[in-house]
Amino acid sequence: MKVRNEQSDILIIGGGAAGCYAALTLGEEYPGLDVLLADKANIKRSGCLAAGVNALNAYITPGHTPQDYADYAKADAAGIVREDLLLSMSEGLNEVTAKLEKLGLVIQKNPDGSYASRGWRNIKINGENIKPILAKAVLDQSNVKVLNHINIVDYIVTDGQVRGAWGIDLNNEEIVIISANAVICATGGAAGLYQPNHPGTSRHKMWYSPFNTGAGYAMGLRAGAEMTTFEMRFIALRCKGTIAPTGTIAQGVGAPQVNSRGEKYQDKYGNTTAERLWAVVKENLAGHGPCYLGTRGITLEQAAALERAYLNMAPAQALFWRESGLNPRDYNVEIEGSEPYVVGGHTASGYWIGNDRSTTLPGLFAAGDVAGGCPQKYVTGSFVEGEIAARAAAAFARQAGKSGIDAEVQETIVKEVEAFLAGNSEGRYTVESLEEAMQQAMDEYAGGIKSHYGYSESSLKIARKHIERLARLSDELRAADFYGLLKIFELRERLLVCRALIAHLAARQETRWHAFGEHLDYPERREDFKVFINSRLEQGEVKIIRRPLIEQESKEAVG
Ligand SMILES: Cc1cc2nc3c(=O)[nH]c(=O)nc-3n(C[C@H](O)[C@H](O)[C@H](O)COP(=O)(O)OP(=O)(O)OC[C@H]3O[C@@H](n4cnc5c(N)ncnc54)[C@H](O)[C@@H]3O)c2cc1C
Repeated sequence: MKVRNEQSDILIIGGGAAGCYAALTLGEEYPGLDVLLADKANIKRSGCLAAGVNALNAYITPGHTPQDYADYAKADAAGIVREDLLLSMSEGLNEVTAKLEKLGLVIQKNPDGSYASRGWRNIKINGENIKPILAKAVLDQSNVKVLNHINIVDYIVTDGQVRGAWGIDLNNEEIVIISANAVICATGGAAGLYQPNHPGTSRHKMWYSPFNTGAGYAMGLRAGAEMTTFEMRFIALRCKGTIAPTGTIAQGVGAPQVNSRGEKYQDKYGNTTAERLWAVVKENLAGHGPCYLGTRGITLEQAAALERAYLNMAPAQALFWRESGLNPRDYNVEIEGSEPYVVGGHTASGYWIGNDRSTTLPGLFAAGDVAGGCPQKYVTGSFVEGEIAARAAAAFARQAGKSGIDAEVQETIVKEVEAFLAGNSEGRYTVESLEEAMQQAMDEYAGGIKSHYGYSESSLKIARKHIERLARLSDELRAADFYGLLKIFELRERLLVCRALIAHLAARQETRWHAFGEHLDYPERREDFKVFINSRLEQGEVKIIRRPLIEQESKEAVG
């Protein structure tokens, strides 16, 4: 077994929006520190930004303040947010936007030169190339070394402190052991836990990046980090068949949701992100579906603008209109909900962190979709969190001093990898069969599409039993090569995230967010659940911890 050792002052795991921005910050502000960024893909086109985006969803337009943004996100999440995190994120949004524009991102402008906005907190960009722009800026930093195609599997923790991580190099088929004085986790959220709405051979056609498998959550759980609010799942309302975002149409041309009778129904259900999805579920159940975005009658210019916007992010939608002839001027656009995800950039799930993005494990920081408590951060919020985490990690690394990895730790890692490569798995289960079983169990018993996102105490118990059994079976999987190893590790991290998610869903005995957390035994909100549901893995069991909400002490002081 080939083993390679690497050393750095700061290790960044995941080179997406947050990880790349952290690397950029460390490159520009801390040239004396050695930085290593490891990504399982190639940072030029990895993570959520791989295909581009057509808007920066989080921006403070003139006449608004960071406090307005924090208030909006708090209301959308029915109060279960960390206001301190929301504010520190919101305060940096415009600065990181200006930085990206300087790096070459095209932001659409009004005739007077101001940014063209979509509503009060969202600006339009030509963002197909946002990831290559960001990657180039990182690669230009002389103190940042990028390791592509390294799938990080676990942290290395000694004496309670995170001192590095290990992973597998997919191209060179070797184990990589990286020691670092501080580690930033930026691996994004978790997709592929539930049966997707495109099963079969296209089951990886999903809204969220299918390569973000919840590795950061799983590593954190295994190392004993505290997590928060997994039970606030994110379910995307999307254009049917193409999974293209609906906000582009809803905000872009002001198209309302309508049912098959042509009725506008949204007011009956409320207008938060979760309620817009829930409205579709309810109308379908009432026999009023399918549901649509009412685009019929938009102008030629509006239709052309929509097509352009989708070409920057979800070209399938533009192609669908062209191929089918169902253009949005004459036909409303059908919408549906995706399967649920755990995504801290849209909801509040992830690591429980301090305002400096430090986790509960010394030496470990978290940013972007993997970090909890701060929903609606999107691309720009992930950049800001990357910047904050980078500065805090730099301060930590400087005082922590160099640390090495001892031989015993290395031996344990090699044994773990070798066990999955020993023998063959013929006649046993395959990764695919266990993954499908996991997705089916989650779909049927933990509130997937099949149950219209609802679950109960008894269904969650069944889900838990299935997931625990599948986790045990996954011990027996064997890989023929390093790609096979990657698939095994991905499945195992998804299974652990499922376990934690089920525990969180069961612990929140209320329905605070329709569909995102639809507890059928407790269909109403409950005052005694205005708390954070947190968790930690202790002796193999997910232990639930209730924490009070952290209210901002003085809005005036920070507004
Ligand atoms: C389809 C889609 C469209 C979106 N559209 C918009 C939009 O228009 N506007 C907007 O503001 N926001 C949008 N968002 C949200 C935004 O893209 C995300 O919030 C943001 O990219 C999150 O950044 P991140 O760094 O946390 O995750 P990512 O950018 O996904 O980066 C995670 C990185 O971690 C790597 N990784 C994962 N696991 C491992 C591992 N084990 N080892 C090593 N590396 C690993 C991945 O390869 C990836 O590079 C969209 C999201 C999606 C999915």
